Amino acid sequence: MSRIVRPVVALALVLSGAALAPSHACRLNSPALDMFLTVFCFILLPVLAYRVPNPRVAWAIVIAAPIITFGSTLLYIRVLHWDLFPSWLLGHNLSAERACRANLVQIQGAKAAWATEQHKTATDTPTDADLFGTNAFIRAKPMCPSDGTYSLGRVGERPSCSAKRHGL
Ligand SMILES: [Zn+2]
Repeated sequence: MSRIVRPVVALALVLSGAALAPSHACRLNSPALDMFLTVFCFILLPVLAYRVPNPRVAWAIVIAAPIITFGSTLLYIRVLHWDLFPSWLLGHNLSAERACRANLVQIQGAKAAWATEQHKTATDTPTDADLFGTNAFIRAKPMCPSDGTYSLGRVGERPSCSAKRHGL
């Protein structure tokens, strides 16, 4: 059998392994890791399947290719959600960061208005009910576009968002 069959089969199996791998709902991603995984699975594995001189070893690589693809995608998702994962490797979602910042500015304004109206000091902390609602400063509590959670904080502090790289 021609050697060229091996990389073709390997590529087809890598594709099916990638199609079967789970996706994750949150918007975390890492272009650098994506690139590495793509090169490894879609280029390196088929090239190895073609180049390895021993046919048994080469076919073993072909058979293992979808499992490697599936497993490395699982690992990728785990690694992305690891707390110590370096943020410089993560992709930026600039529009979400900007929209979130606009929300936080609005919340900060509502806190200041609340503090003035209720004669509060910098160490007082408003609750959601103080700021949001039909009779409050903002009709509905703003939502972070990346599903972060807002902490209002004290009057003297800036409100914050739990999403990575979100904040004032
Ligand atoms: Zn946010």
